[in-house]
Amino acid sequence: MNNKKHCTLVLLAGGRGKRMGTDVPKQFIELNGKPVLWYSLRAAEESAVIDECVLVVHPDDVDFVNNELLSKYSFNKVRRIAFAGSERYESVWSGLLCLAGCDWSKLTEVEKKEVLSDAGLKDQINTDIIFIHDGARPFADETIFNNCYEGAIRYGACVAAVKSKDTVKLVDDNGKIISTPDRNTVWNMQTPQTFEAQLIFDSYRKVMALESINITDDAQAVELMGGREVYVVEGSYTNIKVTTPEDMVTAESFVNGK
Ligand code: C5P
Repeated sequence: MNNKKHCTLVLLAGGRGKRMGTDVPKQFIELNGKPVLWYSLRAAEESAVIDECVLVVHPDDVDFVNNELLSKYSFNKVRRIAFAGSERYESVWSGLLCLAGCDWSKLTEVEKKEVLSDAGLKDQINTDIIFIHDGARPFADETIFNNCYEGAIRYGACVAAVKSKDTVKLVDDNGKIISTPDRNTVWNMQTPQTFEAQLIFDSYRKVMALESINITDDAQAVELMGGREVYVVEGSYTNIKVTTPEDMVTAESFVNGK
């Protein structure tokens, strides 16, 4: 690729995997003898699009990740490790802030407020494009990375996604159906979610400063605070997130079918 922009992958592996019902967080469960996260790390390591990775992990898992994944398999693109927060969005912010040379987990409440009010902090980020990706999605491949790269260049903000195969309904707290969106307009969001670096950094900074935060993906940060439109690019029906035990059965069939 001529004039390729520098791309950083923020790889999230800091969840505790409660929905899986195991002691081991889902990104570390073994899939054909290797942790789920190994597959995401390998995809990044072998990618011509991704230049470097920031890996976000829970402090208790740092030794495991260093010994059993990074050193053992020479995943050399992982340049930094950031500490996860209690929610996904906080882990993303920790990974982004790490790119500005700052460790969110070590800041006092006063320092956090200072960081969140510093509009100039985005200038300290030394990369062009940021991919945010769930470590629990082991099957993102080079085609998806390429689609995301091209989407980020073209639109500034994009999400790998697939059209919903099911009809989706909005339902209230009592289980009563409120409405049925036209299925042609319903897409399932995946990761990577990919952005111009300063756009996603500053959108997250503003979201993190809100009194109450309720975002479940990264596009929402830009939708709310970025002032830019976000587009979908083609993901894949195999780019599943391993969330519940039945997903492991599907994931195993994908690995064995390859
Ligand atoms: O829990 P959820 O399905 O949203 O997790 C998506 C990804 O985000 C997983 O790879 C998980 O490890 C990561 N995560 C994180 N920090 C959290 C929660 C989730 O890094 N606090």
